[in-house]
Amino acid sequence: MKTLTVNLKERSYRVVVGGGALARSGDILSRQGFRTAPVIVANSTVLRLHGDRLLGALRGAFGPSPLIRIPDGERYKNHQTLLKIYDGLFRARADRRSWILAFGGGVTGDIAGFAAATFMRGIRFVMVPTTLLSQVDSSIGGKTGINVPQGKNLVGAFHQPSAVLADTGVLETLPGRQLRSGLFEVLKCGAIRSRPLLDYIDRRLPDILNRHPGALEHIIVAAAGIKADVVALDETEGGLRMILNYGHTIGHAIEAAGGYRRFTHGEAVAWGMIAALGYGRELGVLGAEETGRLNRLIRKAGPLPAVGELGPEAVWRALLRDKKFGGGDVRMVLLRGLGEGAVFNGIDARSLRRFLGRFLGGNGDLD
Ligand code: NAD
Ligand code: MG
Repeated sequence: MKTLTVNLKERSYRVVVGGGALARSGDILSRQGFRTAPVIVANSTVLRLHGDRLLGALRGAFGPSPLIRIPDGERYKNHQTLLKIYDGLFRARADRRSWILAFGGGVTGDIAGFAAATFMRGIRFVMVPTTLLSQVDSSIGGKTGINVPQGKNLVGAFHQPSAVLADTGVLETLPGRQLRSGLFEVLKCGAIRSRPLLDYIDRRLPDILNRHPGALEHIIVAAAGIKADVVALDETEGGLRMILNYGHTIGHAIEAAGGYRRFTHGEAVAWGMIAALGYGRELGVLGAEETGRLNRLIRKAGPLPAVGELGPEAVWRALLRDKKFGGGDVRMVLLRGLGEGAVFNGIDARSLRRFLGRFLGGNGDLD
């Protein structure tokens, strides 16, 4: 088991990564100063698969914990589920000293974190993320929130967790497509900050996909560490944190144009990274050889659903709706080298639009 720290002064916290973290959660959290039982907010599927180990360990350390079960799916990341969580907290007689433990993927973490940010104006919470995506990405950094009819994640708060426990063992039951979706975010971390992480994934891809515990621990520690470092330097996304959006500008537009059904988030980000590679090569920001190398690695971690049938107009419209894309000055993260992401301001919207038309028309092929 390995421990990282997210350095945010008085809001600093540890991220514990490794096999057996669930079974040891009671000890780990007692040692971090927790004395009372949490109110658990858990995804129903994850609870069925892995609940016994977590609940047993917490019972051993703190006695029985009240449990709030939330239904499985992005469509439940909404105000109704949030009200259900508040209701469960009141029933459990929670007060300002209570704490929430979020048990599930990114949906559970986001909504339970937002409940913690707002209940009694803010109580502590601990993340126990159970998807690869949530272990390397959403559990770290303190962004919490819900979806509203006007769009995804449009209501939320920054509220840092007090601890994160990422057990590699729970990933054994994660569907393969979800595992790969998280792996694309790991590749993104390597692309912007760590060439050694890209090399590692290239070498150990079969082990990663077969959920070899050591290989999973390695990539989670590396990617979570990159996110933790970037967040520590820029907690509220004033500047540097934007590089975590590599592949997300075009990726979000592709995800939206696919109706949020055709592509998982990670798959859309994978296409977004490939498109950014192609555009960066066109601008002469990254050479053909490095472009080719990362393009091949991303595809090897696939398969990716085809992009050829998406209308370039629909993708462009979705891009213009993205709150992070410009507002006049169009910005985008590109690679200056493998492991070297940088924000580029003043991207020429017309040339990007033309590139996208060719890219989608050619089925996302860079050759
Ligand atoms: P998710 O929480 O919906 O989980 C995906 C699926 O995997 C679910 O059906 C779940 O039941 C299942 N699952 C989870 N753990 C499992 C396990 N161990 N075994 C078997 N099945 C398991 O989705 P996600 O991909 O984890 O997270 C996506 C969400 O995260 C989105 O809502 C997104 O907006 C959010 N997000 C937030 C941040 C942030 O910084 N806060 C960053 C990235 C993404
Ligand atoms: Mg993402």
